[in-house]
Amino acid sequence: MCGIVGYLGDRQAYEILIKGLKRLEYRGYDSAGVAMIRNGNFSLFKCKGKVSDLEETVGMSDHSGNIGMGHTRWATHGPPNDINAHPHLSNDGSLVLIHNGIIENYAPLKAELINRGHEFKSDTDTEVLVHFIEDIRDKTGANLFEAVRIALSEVIGAYAIVVMDKSNPQQLIAARKSSPLVIGVGKDNEFFVASDATPIIEYTRNVVYLEDEEIAKLDRTEGMKIVTISNQHKTPYIQELEMKLEAIEKGGYDSFMLKEIHEQPRSIMDSIRGRMNVGTGSVRMSGVDDHADRWRNASRILIVACGTSWHAGLVAEYLLEEFARIPVEVEYASEFRYRNPVIMPSDVVIAISQSGETADTLAAIELAKDKGAFIFGVCNVVGSSIARATHSGAYTHAGPEIGVASTKAFTAQVSVLYLLALSVAVHRGVMKGERLNRLMVEMNSIPDKIAEVLKTNDAVKAIAEQYKDSTNALYLGRGYTFPVALEGALKLKEISYIHAEGYPAAEMKHGPIALIDEAMPVFVIATHGASYEKVVSNIQEVKARKGKIISIVTEGDKIVKELSDYAIEIPKCDDSLVPLIAVVPLQLLSYHVAVMRGCNVDQPRNLAKSVTVE
Ligand code: GLU
Repeated sequence: MCGIVGYLGDRQAYEILIKGLKRLEYRGYDSAGVAMIRNGNFSLFKCKGKVSDLEETVGMSDHSGNIGMGHTRWATHGPPNDINAHPHLSNDGSLVLIHNGIIENYAPLKAELINRGHEFKSDTDTEVLVHFIEDIRDKTGANLFEAVRIALSEVIGAYAIVVMDKSNPQQLIAARKSSPLVIGVGKDNEFFVASDATPIIEYTRNVVYLEDEEIAKLDRTEGMKIVTISNQHKTPYIQELEMKLEAIEKGGYDSFMLKEIHEQPRSIMDSIRGRMNVGTGSVRMSGVDDHADRWRNASRILIVACGTSWHAGLVAEYLLEEFARIPVEVEYASEFRYRNPVIMPSDVVIAISQSGETADTLAAIELAKDKGAFIFGVCNVVGSSIARATHSGAYTHAGPEIGVASTKAFTAQVSVLYLLALSVAVHRGVMKGERLNRLMVEMNSIPDKIAEVLKTNDAVKAIAEQYKDSTNALYLGRGYTFPVALEGALKLKEISYIHAEGYPAAEMKHGPIALIDEAMPVFVIATHGASYEKVVSNIQEVKARKGKIISIVTEGDKIVKELSDYAIEIPKCDDSLVPLIAVVPLQLLSYHVAVMRGCNVDQPRNLAKSVTVE
């Protein structure tokens, strides 16, 4: 979940590390640290807090050195404090290490090392790993590269690590399993290491994505060498990055989240472009077309995801069942993998993850793969672990999403899943002709409609002003808008820390209605469509108990508007596309409430962008 940066070359490492950590701060940010090698010693600085706190800690101290590593932590073992912050030193102080992930068998390893005289300073599992590597090196006389390999072969868990030895300022060792790691390859054996490519792109476009259980030795004279944990040599596969630097800068907005909300007309267009042709009435999803038999003969579709991606999965359930007439189940990846699910070889599993690194989703994929199911991934990060672990898939082209609370990645996921549902329906022979064409025309108009919705920003801000001090909020939707209610509630929780619940509107009377009083804002998505009249009745139920109604309605609506304390109008569209536009005012609302409450919208407390732990 954390951010890792490493550097080895002729430049000063510190500046590169700090800049890189700032780019990665969205991944985890409860503490930060750096270590460089200078005159045969480590200069190590670390502290609780953000990268800016780290910069203050370093202050005027000498931080020179041409080799170094940096880390932003998302605590799993031990509270965020100065001591638990990474990097961690080995027992004799000769090695230093940063780590992303969890060492599951750290407790027995720690007990054994204590028996052998090791003393630990922190509560972390990470410190155990660096002591363990040192112990193996000293016991076996192996060099650092080999000692890391032996240590990792005995470690259970997930990791991306960077290690260095103070007596060898010419070499960095990096390794990964279930946590991402990218190596940037500069000129003349200059190397960069990072959790994703964003800290690297301004220095080089040549990268190597390290695979699971691979260990890389980066050496100023010998260059790069990769072995697997089982000691097989691998030839590094150098790829060229396509990402643009502007895509990861704020571009004039106050926060990444606001920028990303406003990018949605473009990110949706990028996600559907080339995949449907309104003129010829065809949908082209290569991940479906190239495996048409699997989709045609599928007896069931299972969708596995977490968080916001799970909400996109719920929308997809409705779409696939309606368009393709195939049974669909949507599962929390974390539950799915631990309950001995029934998976059949005739199942198609769709795994959805923005980062493509979500640990629970990855594990669910492996489980389903073992049982012979066909796996289709929907990810935003090219070359990510999920993209590589699946049989086929479709990238969302949302561009890098830096704000921790997902916005444009959600709408990009829904857009891709929309085309997927249409494509599967066509392959299964249950959708064609006029209906298909009408839906594609409607889909094509969504980016413009979102641009319209973004103009409601001031009205949404005024609503935020009214409810910013609420302690609770309820979100209601029905049919296609139920997942939107869940997503709206999640956005508010994530960034403003107001407790919010999303509910199917009709289910409210089976429990949450007890919460309604004059202080309770109830956000209802009540657009024209199949369940409009039913939702109107649910609104009446809230009104009867003096709840405040804030509604998202279709342009020109009268009935719900009259019943509402506030209403936001959105353009008319097919029921099946409402999630894409109805979610936008709810994203804006959460954003404004969070800003008014003084919260950090891009880096909400306790969260991390890429959840690489179980
Ligand atoms: N498990 C380690 C710790 O708690 C690393 C967490 C991370 O990925 O930041 O320090």
